[in-house]
Amino acid sequence: MTELPLPATGGCRCGAVRFEISASPFFSSACHCRGCQRMTGSAYSLTMSVPAVGFRVDSGDPVPGGLRNENKHMHCPDCHSWVFTRPAGADFLVNVRTTMLDNVPGDVPFIETCLAEALPYAALDAPHQFDGFPPEDQYEPLMRKYASERH
Ligand SMILES: [Zn+2]
Ligand SMILES: [Zn+2]
Repeated sequence: MTELPLPATGGCRCGAVRFEISASPFFSSACHCRGCQRMTGSAYSLTMSVPAVGFRVDSGDPVPGGLRNENKHMHCPDCHSWVFTRPAGADFLVNVRTTMLDNVPGDVPFIETCLAEALPYAALDAPHQFDGFPPEDQYEPLMRKYASERH
C-alpha cells in the first residue's frame, strides 16, 4: 500500500469546493451498498477515512445531501458532487471520496463493504471483504494493519 503523499488536495467536479488532507488515512475502502450506488451513480463509492483533525475545507460551502439522516453527506452546492461524509458516531474521522483527490491513489481499496449488494461484475478483490460492514471491534485491528502495511 502506497503512503498517501501529504498534504493531499482535492475538490468537486466544478472546483467550487476544495479541500486538503494533512494526516494519513486510517484506511481506504469501497462500499457496494445500494445507497452508495445511487449516490455515486456508479457501482460503488470510494473512501479515504482520514482523521478529522487532518481534513480542512479550503473553499466552497458544502451542503448536506443524500439521505438527510444522522450521517452528514456533504455535497458541493453548485455541481452537487458528493465530496465527503461526516459519519454519525465517529466524529474523529471524515470519509473523503477518494475520486475527489487531485491525484487518485492507484491502490486497490483496503476494505470492501456491503458485498452482499454488489453488482456481480464490480467486486474488487480487496484484501478485507465484508458482506455488510465490519463489526465494530474489527475497525481498530484493521486500522493498525493498514498503518503497518503502508510504505
Ligand atoms: Zn462543485
Ligand atoms: Zn455504501
